Amino acid sequence: MALLPVDVARRRIVALAQSVAECETIPCTEAVGRVAAKDIAAPVDLPPFHASAMDGFAVRAPESTGRQRWRVVGTSAAGHPASRSIGAGEAVRIFTGAPLPRGADAVVLQEDAALAGDVVESAEPVRAGQHVRHCGQDARRGEVLFASGTPLTAYRLTWLAACGIQEVQVTRRIRVAVFSTGDELARPGRALGPGQIYESNRFALATLLRQKPVAVQDFGCVADSLDATRRALGEAAQRADLIVASGGVSVGDADFVKQAVAEVGNIELWRVALKPGKPLAVGRVGSALFFGLPGNPVSTIVTYLLFVAPVLDALGGGAPVAPLEFAARLAGPVRHSKGRREYLRGVLRKTAGGLSVSVERDQGSHRLGTLARANCLVVASEEHGDLAAGDSVAVLPFSGATDHLLAATPDAPLAGAPTGSQ
Ligand code: AMP
Ligand code: MG
Repeated sequence: MALLPVDVARRRIVALAQSVAECETIPCTEAVGRVAAKDIAAPVDLPPFHASAMDGFAVRAPESTGRQRWRVVGTSAAGHPASRSIGAGEAVRIFTGAPLPRGADAVVLQEDAALAGDVVESAEPVRAGQHVRHCGQDARRGEVLFASGTPLTAYRLTWLAACGIQEVQVTRRIRVAVFSTGDELARPGRALGPGQIYESNRFALATLLRQKPVAVQDFGCVADSLDATRRALGEAAQRADLIVASGGVSVGDADFVKQAVAEVGNIELWRVALKPGKPLAVGRVGSALFFGLPGNPVSTIVTYLLFVAPVLDALGGGAPVAPLEFAARLAGPVRHSKGRREYLRGVLRKTAGGLSVSVERDQGSHRLGTLARANCLVVASEEHGDLAAGDSVAVLPFSGATDHLLAATPDAPLAGAPTGSQ
């Protein structure tokens, strides 16, 4: 079977995801990372009234540019509006955030004002609207702030809080079942038996999934047997929208995952022109989508980032998000074979000559150290062979401590992917 190009595979995989329909209402304080299930409209104007942006004097801007003097007739402080409106030639002492009294349309800065008794004079000409925060400037009552499907980030929720919104309707968490396969796998914290290695893929997946709107069900480590794999798949499919397994999708004698999926469900796609991660398998078991990620730890992580993450966006009701790409210059040569897209682990640095990225020579997909030291993925395209120092390459930076890929914009759809819930 021919290897599928990465972009084709990603489009086909994302198209398999049907967004979950159920939603729930939760407090905004718990909604970071969740996805709006309905359009969210502003229930009030923001700011809710014309307010002063500075400390000074609220006045009505004079029509002529002559001498500018006003008689101070009251005070408006934050939370304590003036009790009366003002006329031409009158001013109210005002502070930042306080409502403009009726009749006023400008604020004279305290620094520009000379106060003598109850008369204030401005050293500068006064324009209508100056130093005023206009009612509804940041949000208009009834305006849709976020369309259904928008991921709720910290600042988006803060904007909602400023509009007085305390609860939001979000799609329910996506249920994700995770298991590893491999008779050689031992749990960290225990002594290693002969031929055993410590299991790290479930740790990586659980950590990455925690940043997404999911509920993870850990199905542990499954033995390399057709029977055990079938059983795990059957149970997982009962309880999950998405099953993510690692290992066992190659062509070795102990690779039972693909066969088991084909028996209890179906395989939609297998093998991508990608390094690391070529044997990726995607299918369905019952109503659950299935991902069989290749077992080498770097392959598991790269295929999660490229394929599982956008599917989670789509299942959650949002548009699958494309990762942000920068162009950077290679600090040294990189060996690469044409025909497969390679994602190398790189260290991106700002230099006097622009962004520079260095890539370790040994990029073995078992070497988690290359990822631990990296701050980005470096793309070596399928169209070109070896790369030379100074060549321009695309880099996909990791986002701080979470190590997800940075989103191109908070919700830029993946090129070629269907938008919305389909
Ligand atoms: P597989 O895809 O099952 O052929 O595994 C490929 C390589 O990844 C083998 O060296 C496995 O020992 C290793 N591997 C598989 N699963 C895991 C895991 N969960 N944690 C760490 N290494 C793994
Ligand atoms: Mg295995």
